Amino acid sequence: MDFSFTQEQEMLRETLRTMGKRENFKEMAAKTDETGIFPRHLIKKYADMGLLGMTLSAEYGGGGRPAIDAILAIEELAKFSPMIAAPVFESNVGPVRVIDMFGSEAQKRSIIPGVCSGEMSVSVCMTEPEAGSDLTSLTTRAVERGDHYILNGRKAFITGADEASHYMVYTRFGDISGYKGIGGLLVEKGMPGFSFGKQERYMGLRGMPSCDLIFEDVKVPRENVIVKPGDFRNLMMTFDIERCGNSAMCLGVAGGALDEAVAYAQQRNTFGRPISEFQAIQFQVVEMTVKLEAARLLVYRAATGAGRGLPSIYEAAMAKCFANQMVTEVTDDAMQVFGGYGYSTEFPLERMARDGRAWRVAGGTANMLKVTLASFIFGRRFDQRKGK
Ligand SMILES: Cc1cc2nc3c(=O)[nH]c(=O)nc-3n(C[C@H](O)[C@H](O)[C@H](O)COP(=O)(O)OP(=O)(O)OC[C@H]3O[C@@H](n4cnc5c(N)ncnc54)[C@H](O)[C@@H]3O)c2cc1C
Repeated sequence: MDFSFTQEQEMLRETLRTMGKRENFKEMAAKTDETGIFPRHLIKKYADMGLLGMTLSAEYGGGGRPAIDAILAIEELAKFSPMIAAPVFESNVGPVRVIDMFGSEAQKRSIIPGVCSGEMSVSVCMTEPEAGSDLTSLTTRAVERGDHYILNGRKAFITGADEASHYMVYTRFGDISGYKGIGGLLVEKGMPGFSFGKQERYMGLRGMPSCDLIFEDVKVPRENVIVKPGDFRNLMMTFDIERCGNSAMCLGVAGGALDEAVAYAQQRNTFGRPISEFQAIQFQVVEMTVKLEAARLLVYRAATGAGRGLPSIYEAAMAKCFANQMVTEVTDDAMQVFGGYGYSTEFPLERMARDGRAWRVAGGTANMLKVTLASFIFGRRFDQRKGK
């Protein structure tokens, strides 16, 4: 296995690192957390830099680059804050990839250029108040009426909230039960009958728009079907690239916390010496580094394997499981290195710990990924509904 980066990839990382320092992204991250206001000017900036849609098809205005490039960019920016990485995440590993991979020519032409220029964004809308892990029990329903569908239902925890332009809604078509009835329908903001619930108040990721979506007799044209019922597998397989993005967020947050801990340990003196001279602190920092590097290998393996397509389900699930756990441990340990200052909101560590905790739930919980991994290890599916 070759884990060396190309010159272009090294340049991308260096550019983002330098930009973050020059433009004081650390301060922007703290301000975003404090005010809960997303730094929207980043969207235009990233579009001008070619970071939005860098993995989408070149013939529709995307960058045509492999998934790993976006993963590296997300990781680098998430060292400052996942909010600062969010537009790169959404436009490269979000549901726009479903359109890029499975959409019609017309769908690609109408959405991908807008996503790359930052004028459009697509939210993924799977979760419902009564169906999260148990996704195939979802009750949002699209009923055929001539040349369109009538959509009814409610989605919960939708990132992008009322700030996205388009919504990839996982819906049941008609009365087909189970996963076979689920497909993906693209809903546009402003369609009559489509409204939003109140903004979620999360522990972390402050500044991230998130709320319920409410569909009441929304008339959606037939041509907005991106994935038809029966092709649910295509929806879920594409979601595995989002899971690599989720894992890259974990690498970034943990990497940012580790950098802070290493710097602080060399400045903070106790007993007349920097705390970095105590072996207990050194070992703690070493353990954090080992965990982060191990997670990197899993995430890079999954993303590199995806090439310009999709990662292996097994590799993406394993990377996410490990990275989700790793980030909670590394940010917690980094807080400890900071002593009392780690717990203070004057320093970034407590924010990083709050931000890092989100990923173990977002994108599917660690338990559900373990259910997937168990099926690979034992060579058979485990029906979660058994015993009913
Ligand atoms: C920050 C954030 C962003 C999000 N963004 C989006 C988004 O943009 N779009 C979207 O659609 N959703 C989004 N979500 C929702 C997220 O995908 C769901 O919260 C998640 O899938 C879990 O669903 P749930 O909350 O209903 O928990 P539940 O499904 O009720 O699970 C509760 C607990 O039970 C465990 N559990 C359930 N079933 C089993 C089982 N069979 N075996 C073992 N354990 C089990 C789970 O692991 C979990 O620990 C987001 C969530 C968060 C926190």
